[in-house]
Amino acid sequence: MGHPVTLGNDEIAMKVLINQEEIDRGIARLASQLHERYGKEPLTIVAIMTGSLVMLADLIRSLEMPIRISLIRATSYRGGMTSGELTIEDSDMLDIRGRDVLLIDDIFDTGKTLAEVTRRLERQQPRSLRTAVFLNKRGNSVVHQEPDYSVFEIPNEFVVGYGLDYDDLHRNLPYVGVLEEADIAAHRRQFGLSK
Ligand code: 5GP
Ligand code: MG
Repeated sequence: MGHPVTLGNDEIAMKVLINQEEIDRGIARLASQLHERYGKEPLTIVAIMTGSLVMLADLIRSLEMPIRISLIRATSYRGGMTSGELTIEDSDMLDIRGRDVLLIDDIFDTGKTLAEVTRRLERQQPRSLRTAVFLNKRGNSVVHQEPDYSVFEIPNEFVVGYGLDYDDLHRNLPYVGVLEEADIAAHRRQFGLSK
C-alpha cells in the first residue's frame, strides 16, 4: 500500500515514511527551538537549493524574528541517486559578516555538502553559524560534523518529496516517501539510464 505517483511511464506505489501532519509538527518544533535560541534577534537563513526549498518556505512562515534569506546552490554531479563531485554556486550570497546565520539543507547523508558549505560560510566570519537539516540519515556520515538541528532522523533508505528529488522529480510531494530499489531499476531500464 502506498500513494500512487508517476515514475517514467509507470505508476508506482510510494511508501509514506513521514506524513504531512508529522512534517507540520516537526517544523513547528524546529521553529520553537530557534525562537528559544535566537529570541527576537535577526537571523540570516542560508538555504541550499534546490532540496531545502520547501522546508525554507514552511520554516520562515513559522518564525517571528526578523529574517534575511540567502540562497546558494550545491550540486553533486549525479544521475539519480549516486553523489559525485560537489559544486557550490554562491555568487548571490548576502553579506553575513557579524550576523547570526542558520544554514539549512534537506538531508544530511555523508555530511560532505553541509561540511563544505559550513567551511565556506565560516570564512566570512558570521557572528554565529548553526546548521539545521530536515532529514538526518544516521550512520552514513564521513565528516566530523553533526547538524545542530535535525527535524527527523531516518533509516538509510532513498527518500523523495518535501523538496527531495529523484532525477529532479517528486520534490513537490507533500510527504516524505521511500523510493524502492525495484522501482528505480525499472525506471532506469525504461530510459536507458546507466546508474
Ligand atoms: P551529503 O553531502 O550529506 O552526502 O548529501 C547531501 C545531498 O545528497 C542532499 O542534499 C541530497 O541532494 C542528496 N541525498 C542524499 N540522500 C538522499 C536521499 O535519500 N534522497 C534524495 N532525494 N537525495 C539524497
Ligand atoms: Mg541537495
